[in-house]
Amino acid sequence: MELAQFANTAYLGSIVLFILALGGLSHPETARRGNFYAMLGMGIALLATFAFITGNHAILIGGLVIGGATGYVLARKVQMTQMPELVAILHSLVGLAALLVGFATFLGGEGAAHLGGAELSAAEVAAEKTIHDVEIYLGILIGAVTFSGSVMAFGKLSGKIGGKPLTLPGRHWLNLGLLIGTIVVGVMFVQQSADGGGLTPLIIMTVIALLFGIHMVMAIGGADMPVVVSMLNSYSGWAAAATGFMLGNNLLIVVGALVGSSGAILSFIMCRAMNRKFFAVIAGGFGSSSGGGASSAAAGEQGEAVSVTAEDTADLLAEAKEVMIIPGYGMAVAQAQHTVNEMVKTLRAKKINVRFGIHPVAGRMPGHMNVLLAEAKVPYDIVFEMDEINDDFPKVDVSVVIGANDIVNPSALEDANSPIAGMPVIECWKGTTTIVLKRSMATGYAGVDNPLFYKENTRMLFGDAKESIEAVLKGLQQ
Ligand code: NDP
Repeated sequence: MELAQFANTAYLGSIVLFILALGGLSHPETARRGNFYAMLGMGIALLATFAFITGNHAILIGGLVIGGATGYVLARKVQMTQMPELVAILHSLVGLAALLVGFATFLGGEGAAHLGGAELSAAEVAAEKTIHDVEIYLGILIGAVTFSGSVMAFGKLSGKIGGKPLTLPGRHWLNLGLLIGTIVVGVMFVQQSADGGGLTPLIIMTVIALLFGIHMVMAIGGADMPVVVSMLNSYSGWAAAATGFMLGNNLLIVVGALVGSSGAILSFIMCRAMNRKFFAVIAGGFGSSSGGGASSAAAGEQGEAVSVTAEDTADLLAEAKEVMIIPGYGMAVAQAQHTVNEMVKTLRAKKINVRFGIHPVAGRMPGHMNVLLAEAKVPYDIVFEMDEINDDFPKVDVSVVIGANDIVNPSALEDANSPIAGMPVIECWKGTTTIVLKRSMATGYAGVDNPLFYKENTRMLFGDAKESIEAVLKGLQQ
């Protein structure tokens, strides 16, 4: 057997492990096993590449040491709340890799070198070269969009760039122009490459693709960011698959396609959760300030928000039979999940039925709340999706909103002028009492005022979520 065949056999094992990993990651109970499969798959892939593919071990070891050390330090340092930004910047690296591999393949003429052969006619060689050129072109195109888009997403998620959408006049025409531009330049590239040139159109397309990535993410409003994050995840997969085609590496092609398609499915699920159409998300502008004025005015007219103490909250909870906890991004910021679990245990010991209601875009990354609750060892059987609990609120005595804002904003349903109109939300205000834990009256990620805070049956428990829950717990234990 040739060395490449050994490598492909090992890669097949890795691919099976990656598929098992995806299956495992579909549920919190099996997620740890899924991660283990993924690590094993990656370990086998690295060993096979090392042993069978490259003769240049020094460069590979150098890359492994630098990449491994950087990954280790980042993973140890990163706060749970910074995970989405870390994921975004890692996606940008996949895009950058595809871009660089594309240029290296084109300039090194590597792909062309393995084309042709005694049994192929000149026309067949030319056709193969065209296909290879298209691979390079698409690889660089997807890589560049992924790179610049992910860097912008990193900026938005980390708050370095404002969350408001940049709605340039005629932006749809601009996007269409850029798309047509890439097609025209692509045709020029293939033609020039056949005559031994093509670098100039390749560079022009790269600049267009980088600008498109920036413009695409800058036009996205706060509330649409979850879809964009999963979309960039998908793009990074296609960028990896494109790299696989350029390098003739089967593992990269299959793994890239797995990431690309699972990211696309996730984008679809996110769109459905937000009641948004995929192309409307790409077109951008959702969550813009245009309707915000009306919404703020409406909030102002609704009167004063009423605050409550931790002791009174403890009394309300102790008297309740049905309690719903709705966690949001603020729970992650406060790292309150362990204290929340202690409170839940205390309430359940008092024979109070406690459930969690999880909004699909709560927090800053898909599954964010589930990860936090699993970390705190909250039993899975009391954690429910939004759709499973939204009809139950009329029977709920106390809803506790912990650091959530956009996901419980009634204006999404009640105010057609609201910038987030149409987005499904957790309808906690339909319960008897809602207690909102947050530090101030500030808006959430989408920058939209929240009329929930002014409703008659809402009480605000101001302060850091962890400290507030600790105080409530103390009250419950007295
Ligand atoms: P929001 O961002 O709407 O609100 C979080 C609230 O938490 C803030 O209003 C803040 O208020 C409060 N908060 C912050 N720190 C603390 C603290 N230490 N203690 C108590 N409260 C705190 O979060 P939601 O989870 O409700 O909604 C998620 C939003 O993020 C949506 O708009 C979603 O579209 C977006 N998004 C989601 C992604 C995903 O994949 N899930 C990805 C990117 C964006 P205050 O400052 O007054 O304390």
